Amino acid sequence: ADMALYRAKADGRGTFCFFRGEMAETVESRRVLELDLRKALAREEFELFYQPLVHLKSGRITTCEALLRWNHPTRGMVSPMDIIPVAEEMGLILDLGRWILRKACMECMRWPEAVSVAVNFSSQQFHQRDILSEVRYALEVSGLPAHRLEIEITESSLLRNTEWTHDALRQLHSAGVKISLDDFGTGYSSLSYLHNFPLQKVKIDRSFLEGIDTDRPLMLLRGVARLSADLGMAVVVEGIETTEQLELVSLDGTVTEAQGYLFSRPVSGVRIRELLDASHGRYLHDNNVKA
Ligand code: C2E
Ligand code: MG
Ligand code: MG
Ligand code: MG
Repeated sequence: ADMALYRAKADGRGTFCFFRGEMAETVESRRVLELDLRKALAREEFELFYQPLVHLKSGRITTCEALLRWNHPTRGMVSPMDIIPVAEEMGLILDLGRWILRKACMECMRWPEAVSVAVNFSSQQFHQRDILSEVRYALEVSGLPAHRLEIEITESSLLRNTEWTHDALRQLHSAGVKISLDDFGTGYSSLSYLHNFPLQKVKIDRSFLEGIDTDRPLMLLRGVARLSADLGMAVVVEGIETTEQLELVSLDGTVTEAQGYLFSRPVSGVRIRELLDASHGRYLHDNNVKA
């Protein structure tokens, strides 16, 4: 719940964060976290994990999403949900984001050519003035062709419905990079975002899977999927954990890709390469189901 409040602020909606429970303790541990974050970036203590997106018709891995991990010496694995908002408030997000982007592009160069990489951009990172040159530079130093990079933004990045936001998206699009709308349906969504902005992919949030074995939630998910598909976007459903969910989501053919623990949890760079090599990019979800 605390994180939701931090997020609200980081999203720039003017909501401030409040501390719950032991206030002093929270402030103190946050201060320590901030100091540690600075050091961690300098020492390159961060790591990227990768989680595949699977094309439903072919069973192929189309994309792997880069997910930030921080193996803290005393805290253990720190969730990106704790890191990103703090990095945003500290003004560290641009440096961290730059590291993530370059690292992910370089990693993708080691994968089969048909596999792309998806990189999450925080709202601040997306709204930096030289975003296009940041992206171009990451592609240049890594040698990754633009079409193999997908940038995941959330609805909060689109809240500033300005000429600039449109320009940035258009420029990235004409540079050949794909833009994908992450966690769709959780933010201050407006369905109009789907056609107002040049987006190539929509990732329907996993909260849409709740109660999907009953009529109405399934209709809602299908409606959103159909709408996105009709507007020409690829449709991904996130957070698939069971074969039942996969079957329901696959039924009418509008959902193009799926992601979730059923296929694979996020895994290390070494492990994802093994997975891609072993499967030749083909995802054997039958194996997984039986496991
Ligand atoms: P996201 O971009 O929506 O990423 C998906 C999250 O859902 C990941 O959590 C992933 O581990 C989790 N997930 C995937 N499949 C399943 C499933 O079947 N069931 C369940 N319960 N969860 C599943 P993670 O890695 O903890 O990341 C959380 C969020 O932190 C991400 O949500 C994204 O918003 C943010 N994040 C992660 N890495 C980065 C990054 O490099 N930069 C930025 N700006 N944000 C990041
Ligand atoms: Mg994402
Ligand atoms: Mg997501
Ligand atoms: Mg999510």
